[in-house]
Amino acid sequence: MDALHPLPHPSVLAHVVDAHCHPTDSPLSPAVLSGLPHRICAMATRASDQPLVRSLAEQFPDKVIPCFGYHPWFIHWISLAPPNALPAKDVHYQTLLLPLSEPEHAPLLPAFHRLLPLLPDPVSLATIVEDLRTNLSAFPHAMLGEVGLDRAFRIPFERPAVPPYASSPAPSHPPGHSHDAPEPRRELSPFTTPLAHQVAVLEAQLALAVVLRRNVSMHAVKAQQATLALLARMRAAHGSAWTALSVDMHSCGLSALGWAEIERVHPNVFLSLSTAINARSPAHVALLRAVHPARLLVESDFHDVAYSAACTWDMLARAATARGWWLEESGAEVEAGRMLRAGHGDDGQAMAKAEEGWGAVRRIAENWRVFERGGHTVLPGVKKKRDKKKLLLDSSEEESGGE
Ligand SMILES: [Zn+2]
Repeated sequence: MDALHPLPHPSVLAHVVDAHCHPTDSPLSPAVLSGLPHRICAMATRASDQPLVRSLAEQFPDKVIPCFGYHPWFIHWISLAPPNALPAKDVHYQTLLLPLSEPEHAPLLPAFHRLLPLLPDPVSLATIVEDLRTNLSAFPHAMLGEVGLDRAFRIPFERPAVPPYASSPAPSHPPGHSHDAPEPRRELSPFTTPLAHQVAVLEAQLALAVVLRRNVSMHAVKAQQATLALLARMRAAHGSAWTALSVDMHSCGLSALGWAEIERVHPNVFLSLSTAINARSPAHVALLRAVHPARLLVESDFHDVAYSAACTWDMLARAATARGWWLEESGAEVEAGRMLRAGHGDDGQAMAKAEEGWGAVRRIAENWRVFERGGHTVLPGVKKKRDKKKLLLDSSEEESGGE
């Protein structure tokens, strides 16, 4: 891993938001948290970390945007049955993971019997939705997250970890463990959570987000078509109540073409990239260039909040390089942009719009503001049909300073 881009002055970081991280996965240092130079969106993933995120947000309200939700890696623990009709543990997992009506499953029985004692008792979907409602309602700005779809994840042969989950000695440098990067040492069972179950749990969480009008941090791994179909269904089912909220495709692993399809039809979907996940593949540069500049956010997806600023800043600097945006060195530069010289840009040309003078930090800070506010009706930054078509083609213009 290359060294991370060096951090700027704290007055610059004051404009940065880490759109997705997992601080409660590591031991928390109050000194680090109270000294954070930026704001963070702290994700919850399963029953045991929802109260940790809640208490973090109560202690550090100016720094922490709490996010409550159930991650696809843990939703095999959830039963769709109502609380008063919960099936026995073995029945729940066998029905979900190994329906014996399918004869090809019989050879997997020994693996199933090895896994079963390691799994927790199932909990009803209705119970977790009520828990989410309570937590989301306690914070007007709380988001739904981390939720999503994952067709790559296999259930490991291990008991659920006790928080903080990544409590082994902190790595000397990030990135390392992440929810989107299964630890390679873990022994994995052959079992995956069926997509239909994942979709059912996700849609119940999203329905609550619509009712409470909450923004969403969404995970999608090897689930491009399923995610596109889900977004289309949500929009058709909920209409303007759906586009009133914002959705962030976090550590977005979609292809640039898959992303373009989303951007073309969904005015409320943004994407954020992380050094921890996305920088492992050069495809992230293509995505950074393909995304409309008004749809881009940045994140760390990291478990140790001490590295959140460094990781988030690293992706922001990568975005600046990929797009040919200048990078501010002071808070004053972030605020003023380059409109300082009587409305003229670096090249002496008159600038038609204020944002043409903005650096990368200001652009992404404005994107966050639009994301947070929600209420999307038109594609951000796009007014004419002709321009929508241009979106897919304009990355080369972007590099030469055009927009
Ligand atoms: Zn995550």
